[in-house]
Amino acid sequence: MRVPFVDLRAQQSIVQEDLLSAAERIIRDASFILGQEVANFEDDFAAYCGVDYAVGVDSGHSALKLALLAFGVGEGDEVLVPANTFIATAAAVTYAGATPVPVDIESDSFQMNPEMIEAAITPRTRAIIPVHLYGTPAEMDAIGAIASKHNLIVIEDAAQAHGSKYHGKRIGGFGHAAAFSFYPAKNLGACGDAGMVVTNDGAAAERIRGMRNVGQLQKNVHTLPPHNHRLDTMQAAFLRVKLPYIDEWNANRSKLAKAYDEGLKGSDIVAPKILDYADQVWHLYVVRSKNRDALQAALQQYDIATGIHYPTPIHLHPFYASLGYKVGDFPVAEARAGEILSLPMYETMDLDAVDYIVKAIREFQPEPT
Ligand SMILES: *Cc1c(COP(=O)(O)O)cnc(C)c1O
Repeated sequence: MRVPFVDLRAQQSIVQEDLLSAAERIIRDASFILGQEVANFEDDFAAYCGVDYAVGVDSGHSALKLALLAFGVGEGDEVLVPANTFIATAAAVTYAGATPVPVDIESDSFQMNPEMIEAAITPRTRAIIPVHLYGTPAEMDAIGAIASKHNLIVIEDAAQAHGSKYHGKRIGGFGHAAAFSFYPAKNLGACGDAGMVVTNDGAAAERIRGMRNVGQLQKNVHTLPPHNHRLDTMQAAFLRVKLPYIDEWNANRSKLAKAYDEGLKGSDIVAPKILDYADQVWHLYVVRSKNRDALQAALQQYDIATGIHYPTPIHLHPFYASLGYKVGDFPVAEARAGEILSLPMYETMDLDAVDYIVKAIREFQPEPT
């Protein structure tokens, strides 16, 4: 058996005819940027998230950046981000003109540790970006309480968590705004780049709508910062085709995660922590092993593809050397970076694949050191 890490072709085959007819319709219309199709997808996605407004943009990175700008975060401000996340979380802060400030993660949940947040707050702190990493909701009650106390803006990074529930309610409405990515391999993916900001704040939604389209809400009247982060009409149409499938696809991911949990019980590797507040959507199934590199190599021998999310914590990326952090500053994130391994997880994967992977993991014997 060969198990890929994700299988976009298999997903595609479920919706291919509808994608092709959407593409044909839009090519015949020759209407390629924004327009009704984008507005329709925004309405559908806002309803899915249970929020009032959604604004389609060209990526998750842009969604985060425009959300920060819409709430006045920029030059001279500090924004708290988890030390273990995709670099785009921090990069959005940088390109909004502010400074990302990492916060260490919890030792067993990979989430930003609420107990470490207050120590990172300074007079310049303006916002927090909790990341629903791997599809697991961040601890929004604890984070929200700290944010209210210190008057901070909360922007959820929901790029990995479409449909994930916190205390029974879909994420996206817990902060001032939430940013989604529709990069093809996310739980809901376009056929190219796309993103979305959702919010219950109508004025902020308006500002984002203007900023994404060269600062205009009315043609040729440029009142807002003139960025270009428009969403392609075709991507919105493709996403509308796929949105009705997301709950079913997430449910299959949950089934696989349960099978992994069962299969790995009593083995040497640590399965993800089950959080009682979360109905998570398993964007990634991330285990921990003291012999991670050897385990990854052994699984490769069985034709099982794995990934590492992420091998380098935010503060140790060469790009962020100028922030002045060093090894040892965020010890939990650094320790986890050497142990984490993402196992195959995608919407069309089946239980036979999980059995095969679990067997391979159980057969793995690290070299005695
Ligand atoms: C994918 C991702 C992003 C960025 O999304 P793009 O659409 O690739 O710009 C941001 N944050 C996290 C946590 C992500 O996984």
